[in-house]
Amino acid sequence: MHFKTKRKAVHPEYNKERTRDKAVERIDAPTIMVYPMSMHIGAPAKPVVEVGDKVNVGTLIGEAQGFISGNVLSSVSGEVISIEDRVGLNGLTTSIIIKNDGEYVEEPPFPEAGESVAPELIPELIKRAGIVGMGGATFPTNVKMAPPADKKIDTLILNGAECEPYSTADFRTMFEYADEIIEGIRVIDSVFNVDKVYIGIEDNSLEAGEALKKAAAGYDKVEVKVLPAQYPQGSEKQLIENCTGRQVPPGSLPADVGCIVSNVGTFQAIYRAVRLGKPMVERVTTINGTPLAEPKNLLVRIGTPIDDVIDICGGFVEAPKKVIHGGPMMGKTIDDGAIPITKGTTHVTFLTAKEAHEDERVDCIRCSECINVCPVSLQPILISNAYERGDIEKAEQLGAMDCIECGNCSFICPSKIPLLENIRKAKTAIKQKAV
Ligand code: SF4
Ligand code: SF4
Repeated sequence: MHFKTKRKAVHPEYNKERTRDKAVERIDAPTIMVYPMSMHIGAPAKPVVEVGDKVNVGTLIGEAQGFISGNVLSSVSGEVISIEDRVGLNGLTTSIIIKNDGEYVEEPPFPEAGESVAPELIPELIKRAGIVGMGGATFPTNVKMAPPADKKIDTLILNGAECEPYSTADFRTMFEYADEIIEGIRVIDSVFNVDKVYIGIEDNSLEAGEALKKAAAGYDKVEVKVLPAQYPQGSEKQLIENCTGRQVPPGSLPADVGCIVSNVGTFQAIYRAVRLGKPMVERVTTINGTPLAEPKNLLVRIGTPIDDVIDICGGFVEAPKKVIHGGPMMGKTIDDGAIPITKGTTHVTFLTAKEAHEDERVDCIRCSECINVCPVSLQPILISNAYERGDIEKAEQLGAMDCIECGNCSFICPSKIPLLENIRKAKTAIKQKAV
């Protein structure tokens, strides 16, 4: 007997073997650094420096605008040499170009930072440091950590389920900086006094789980939750259900079910901002893929052009056919190496022509696999069809806004229909319609 069941997950090849066991390497920044004013979700920051200004590491160069936005701070010391529109991840973006003087002179730490910071000041310090979600979503962390007063937060969930192929940045961060992550939890726990903290990891990251358990010894509310390695494991709603059993209804937010979910690296950045007074000016990122001679996990100053990390990884042994900011499931294809590493750059993936699978699209064969693997029970092909015939209202009715952009549907589709790409465009059109 055979029943067709909904799988809601796929098992792409993980491709993490070449970087998983490589320690994070700190690298020098190049001479020319690029800071897009939009490296977060929400309104772009506004430049607050002018050409010719001298800056230090931690100088505010772009100021958050409105409620959902993020500050941008310089990651080097040097001089502002240009403010111009540059191609970024989301098209043309105002970018500040800084000539690095190689001195790395730092701004003084935030004076309010330290071991006992008043809970009400913590979101302000997070904002000042320019922290946004480091798992790739780039939602401003100060907003996440200050939910409406009527939402009682009783559970913190740290997302260490790094399910995108090729990425090992979170694994290395958990393994190498476990103490700092646990201190970051203590900071946020001082705001909410939660009942429980879960750190969700996949069952292929057990060494990281052990490091975290050791760092959290005696802090009994912290539990490392080992989840099966599958894709997508790291989506917010899924993680909440897997850790707490609570379901976040469509259109609702984690805070509606008493949870805050954030990436493990974000908690490290919170620790550094609140306890040490340091801005978010660097991150761990994985540079990976078959075309590279020596893929690595790097601690990179934000604003470093991707071109500048290729040589550090030994250059190419084979010309890449496709370069993805992020991974093959949710990432965005880029074709300009001048695009920099930004706050949301978990990894950069280089693919050979064979791996890129850029086969010709053919007609839908109605296999229903895209529906079968959608973790939020959408009908991706119907949304995609609605978008392609310009029926944005229908796309909305079909729940396009609930799509978590996991990429399962595009990955599984035998007809190579760009389902995720169409759904992303439909979401943008729906948002524009609402303005
Ligand atoms: S429709 Fe969205 S949530 Fe569903 S599989 Fe496709 S990308 Fe993932
Ligand atoms: S997976 Fe592709 S071919 Fe199959 S139903 Fe969905 S869109 Fe059609």
